[in-house]
Amino acid sequence: MSELRELYQEMILDHGKKPRNCRVLPGANRRAEGFNPLCGDRLTLWLQVEDGVVHDAAFEGRGCAISTASASLMTETLKGRTETEAQALFQGFHRLVTGEGPATGGPALGKLSVFSGVSEFPLRVKCATLCWHTMRAALENRVDPVTTE
Ligand code: ZN
Repeated sequence: MSELRELYQEMILDHGKKPRNCRVLPGANRRAEGFNPLCGDRLTLWLQVEDGVVHDAAFEGRGCAISTASASLMTETLKGRTETEAQALFQGFHRLVTGEGPATGGPALGKLSVFSGVSEFPLRVKCATLCWHTMRAALENRVDPVTTE
């Protein structure tokens, strides 16, 4: 189990250092900004949504390794998902990092499970969930920037 945990942390470090989908998305039709004042994490998220499906996702921002890795893995996970699946993933991810345990009937979290250890660090929960709150705001076309406060 400890080896597995080590591996998971390595994936977080890897995505934190070399985030995937870290770029502006010119074809995006959804956009939202998020800010976590507790840690200083900031990000802008772009989504390209057509017929209820997330075709592409990208982000730019500045933040700690957890928030960057979370946005990196989230954007990877979202591609090809329906808006309903994206919302369900948000719920599942939120339960995972707050230690509430897996949601029943939701989509499998896959790689996102690497963040399960975050539940032991309550201050880091907002770092990990910032991009997800921002994603939901983007899907709902909310204009006001998201803050985790
Ligand atoms: Zn942070």
